[in-house]
Amino acid sequence: MNLFALLDQAAGRLADRGAVYSGERQMHTWSQLRDRSLRLAATFGPPGTRIGVASENRPEIIELMFAVWAAQCVYVPLNYKLHPREMEQILDDSGAALVFASPKIAEGLADTEIIGGPAYSERLRAAPITAPTDTDPSALAWLFYTSGTTGRSKGAMLSHRNLMAMTVAHLADFDSPDENCSLIHGAPMSHGSGLYIPPYVLRGARQVVPDSGSFEPHEFLDLCEHHFDCSAFLAPTMVQRLVQTGRACPHNLRTVVYGGGPMYVDSLKKAMAAFGPIFVQLYGQGEAPMTITGLRRADHIGTDDAILGSVGYARSGVDVAVLRDDGSPAAIGEIGEIVCRGDVVMSGYWNNPDATAAALCNGWLRTGDMGSFDERGYLTLRDRSKDVVISGGSNIYPREVEEALLEHPGVSEAGVVGAPDEEWGEIVVAFVVGSVSAAELDAHLLERIARFKRPKRYEFIDELPKNSYGKVLKRELRDRLAT
Ligand code: AMP
Repeated sequence: MNLFALLDQAAGRLADRGAVYSGERQMHTWSQLRDRSLRLAATFGPPGTRIGVASENRPEIIELMFAVWAAQCVYVPLNYKLHPREMEQILDDSGAALVFASPKIAEGLADTEIIGGPAYSERLRAAPITAPTDTDPSALAWLFYTSGTTGRSKGAMLSHRNLMAMTVAHLADFDSPDENCSLIHGAPMSHGSGLYIPPYVLRGARQVVPDSGSFEPHEFLDLCEHHFDCSAFLAPTMVQRLVQTGRACPHNLRTVVYGGGPMYVDSLKKAMAAFGPIFVQLYGQGEAPMTITGLRRADHIGTDDAILGSVGYARSGVDVAVLRDDGSPAAIGEIGEIVCRGDVVMSGYWNNPDATAAALCNGWLRTGDMGSFDERGYLTLRDRSKDVVISGGSNIYPREVEEALLEHPGVSEAGVVGAPDEEWGEIVVAFVVGSVSAAELDAHLLERIARFKRPKRYEFIDELPKNSYGKVLKRELRDRLAT
């Protein structure tokens, strides 16, 4: 089983219909997309080679993804918002032998090939290979880099089978697109939106990439007015930005999948009042690509706040449980760690046996999220055992920001926490001990970490609260923000 078969099937049935669009403009038909991928694939190899793609959203990402699979290589997308230093770390860790970058990203990154440049055009002149038919389903297809609690990214190893299970669950639970539908890429295609490419390609739905390469609410809504029945994955912050435009829901916008971070009940109700019952919620993580629990469109209608505030129930083909510290199952309503099992679950972290052993236990993935089930089977997230802050749908690990802050000579101690925020879901707040200004710290961080990870607020204090072991009491810091 090879994921290239998804494109092969669509191209066989829908040869001359539009497949890839840049804004409103058709770029390639399905047979052209297949042909381009097979030509690119002819220049990749051997099987197992890791191939990096670092770019804001662009139409070529789709042909590159399927070319990598056709060549039985491994797709390694990079979040284009990362600092070049962070991208280098991921490329080093994955051992990527070839890296494609957009012109903008290539400026800050050594040894890349420019997407759409002369060398790329040359690859497209190669003779196409024959599509592979005998790929081992457990072969590695995608290294999905998540931020690590230690500040270093870890590569979740996703196989062809994992991504096929994700594809089938999406089509079973959430959406049933066909060739008269469109997938609009609002969120980054390097992770959130990119995972939706396989199911929509299998059904021959148009792949629409906004010309801005990012999420602009008006551009997004304009595209939904232009294209056929539209679906999209959007981070909760993006949903709020759509609502803030004050525009009516385009009648072609059929499904918005939100998730990847908390959506507050109040925001969800406002979104449903403005746009109607078009929303679907997912709860997942890169390690079980976006497929643990969810709420279907119908589950949002005429329901109570407890359900709207939950992350739904187990996805098709996935076992979900909540465990106590001793590994025994928690009772209804009792909070424990959420674990899941099934064909979507990764085989481990790339080159990181310690992290793999900590995350996978007897076939169960320990999510690091805390939650509880109600008697109906709805799961509610209560807290995260990992200390991650999720701001605008992006994960930010406090330790990484703290480490960067501590590199400043004027900082003696730093404690970073998330604070609830209407617009972003959460914002990063840094408590700092030392003699330095917020502006100096901001400039200092710009040199070291991605812009979106910088604190939106600084609090200068005399000393961080600590327990008897010297561990910083994060809860106390959060409490200070609440008072
Ligand atoms: P990532 O692997 O970077 O996508 O991050 C996954 C984490 O995002 C999960 O472990 C959760 O903590 C959080 N998350 C994902 N989906 C939801 C959701 N629907 N509601 C709240 N938090 C979520």
